[in-house]
Amino acid sequence: MQFKTVIEPFRIKSIEPIQFTTRDDHLASLQRAKYNLFGLHGDEVLVDMLTDSGTGAMSNQQWAGMLLGDESYAGSRSFYKFEAAVQDITGFKHVIPTHQGRAAERILFSIIAHPGCVILNNNHFDTTRANIEYVGAEARDLVIEEGHIPGLIHPFKGCMDVELLRQTIREVGRDNIPLVMLTVTNNSGGGQPVSMANIRAVSEVCHEHGLPFFLDACRFAENAWFIKTREDGYRDKTPLQIAQEMFSYADGCTMSAKKDGLANIGGFLALNNDDLAMQCRNLLILTEGFPTYGGLAGYDLEAVAQGLREVLDEHYLEYRVRTVAYLAEKTVSAGIPIIQPPGGHALFIDAKAMLPHIPVYHYPAQALAIALYLEGGIRGVEIGSVMFGKPHPDGTETPAQMELVRLAFPRRTFTQSHIDYVAEVLTYIHSIQEDIRGVRITWQPPFLRHFTAHFEPL
Ligand SMILES: *Cc1c(COP(=O)(O)O)cnc(C)c1O
Repeated sequence: MQFKTVIEPFRIKSIEPIQFTTRDDHLASLQRAKYNLFGLHGDEVLVDMLTDSGTGAMSNQQWAGMLLGDESYAGSRSFYKFEAAVQDITGFKHVIPTHQGRAAERILFSIIAHPGCVILNNNHFDTTRANIEYVGAEARDLVIEEGHIPGLIHPFKGCMDVELLRQTIREVGRDNIPLVMLTVTNNSGGGQPVSMANIRAVSEVCHEHGLPFFLDACRFAENAWFIKTREDGYRDKTPLQIAQEMFSYADGCTMSAKKDGLANIGGFLALNNDDLAMQCRNLLILTEGFPTYGGLAGYDLEAVAQGLREVLDEHYLEYRVRTVAYLAEKTVSAGIPIIQPPGGHALFIDAKAMLPHIPVYHYPAQALAIALYLEGGIRGVEIGSVMFGKPHPDGTETPAQMELVRLAFPRRTFTQSHIDYVAEVLTYIHSIQEDIRGVRITWQPPFLRHFTAHFEPL
């Protein structure tokens, strides 16, 4: 008998109690945090779905591995385990550890990007875009048209528009494009996967023009699972084989091990080009650490090395993707609009469609994220005009294309009843949606404003 229930592929050996809080507590916390959910204390949150980054539970094998960590400054044994795990999956010649993904991005872009040049991607993640813009370059998104339509079902909405890529190379000129990236899965575009066919096609166009092609590989294992289950010809391949093929088309990658590394901290930059790798290592030594630890402890390298093996387990990936789909089904049956189909690491609620009475310049997704916390103690994150809107000197703003609230799933952390609770709260908020008001920004910093901006309900 083939049973249908997809169970959590682990038992719980160590637990972390949740702090229970009331609606009055939530209101007081919101006022203190200036209605920015990044300003809340962890203990003020009942179900924290702010991010899936570094928030997962490690396995007994990972904790055991941490005791084996070799803290040698140079040539740590743990580094060679880490390097072998990364090379086994990616095949890249040079593996440069970093303390997290954005450190890999900063090192890469401060070497290859400069004012006037353009980096192309399906959708740049916020730290990627910020690191590119910080060095004066432009970050341009070339996701396929379908990727802009939240309700549209398409198996690989994270793909890059290959024709638009060719056109952009013609317009901008290949000499002004230091690098083309594909983010797998496409986090800012709704956690949507990129097909193998698209990775191959983008790679071909890049190599025709002599352009380096990198993956932003944070969720490479989830992307591999979507390829296995949705793309012809991959059903019988293992997630490892699929991941290896994905990386085989690229010249390098940036990675946050806080995602599909199943670790609480860590990342890497991996690449084939010897000269670029040397420059990256030199900068690494200046700002992160010696190339065999890159700002990480030996035990962190152990946790990532083990995590990279566990993340490709089929039972894990099936459970992971099924959990998000389960919440999506409950949300849709409550009549709440979401990005379809649901992504690999998060549910993205379409706040513009759910709260049509709030104009985009009153940040409907921020308003919805605040309501989720106020009513249910659930912390999600706005991915809309607060994060991606472009403020102009005259005080006006170009809004983001979509106004989303992302409920991210920490890996191996919540059980099905946590998810049932989230669905119940969402359903309640949908029933009171007309009472939800927009917000205005009362203070903002010049970069990555969503982390620290202050808001006021209207
Ligand atoms: C998280 C993330 C990053 C940055 O990684 P950090 O470890 O948070 O610095 C880059 N790109 C994508 C797609 C991400 O999801």
